[in-house]
Amino acid sequence: MKHIAYRDSLTNALNRRAFQEHFRDFKRILQRAEGNNKSVFLIAADIDHFKAVNDSYGHDIGDKVLIAFTDLVESQIRAQDTIYRFGGEEFTILLQDCHVDIAIDRIEQIMNLLNNNRLDIDELEHAVTCSFGITPMLASDTVDSVCIRADQALYTAKNSGRNQYV
Ligand code: GH3
Ligand code: MG
Ligand code: MG
Repeated sequence: MKHIAYRDSLTNALNRRAFQEHFRDFKRILQRAEGNNKSVFLIAADIDHFKAVNDSYGHDIGDKVLIAFTDLVESQIRAQDTIYRFGGEEFTILLQDCHVDIAIDRIEQIMNLLNNNRLDIDELEHAVTCSFGITPMLASDTVDSVCIRADQALYTAKNSGRNQYV
């Protein structure tokens, strides 16, 4: 029952409900990170022009992209980090106990792999890219305020040409 409640059935990523449950306790997560002189980063990720992937290759290939994207991100983040599928082609990545340079490095690595066609889907004739909005979590935040800030950064990344992080 827990698996059904907290996992997305397509990608097997944790879902938004799991994020909200986990993040209810974010002050404790943040205190632990700050105790180690580190931060917690929240990253809003949205695959670029995903509608065009569905339109060009079909919904089945779109589904494959979502699964491969989730697997690729999971392979590039540490054991304490998590990817959540919030819906459609929108994901949230949580990096716990993390330095800013590690956070940036992880995102750049994911972007590089995507740009080098590393989703390993034979049918795709071009790279599928993603835009990212990254923000550190602050003691003054609520779950909503930190998500809104990440979304605003993502919106800027989209409007500045996509395939980038802000
Ligand atoms: P942008 O670069 O601005 O993010 O454009 P976009 O095309 O990625 O964004 P848009 O919101 O226009 O399209 C998202 C598409 O994602 C539309 C919807 O049909 C598709 N989608 C949502 N959930 C799924 C799914 O589970 N499987 C597949 N194949 N497609 C999905
Ligand atoms: Mg979207
Ligand atoms: Mg999109």
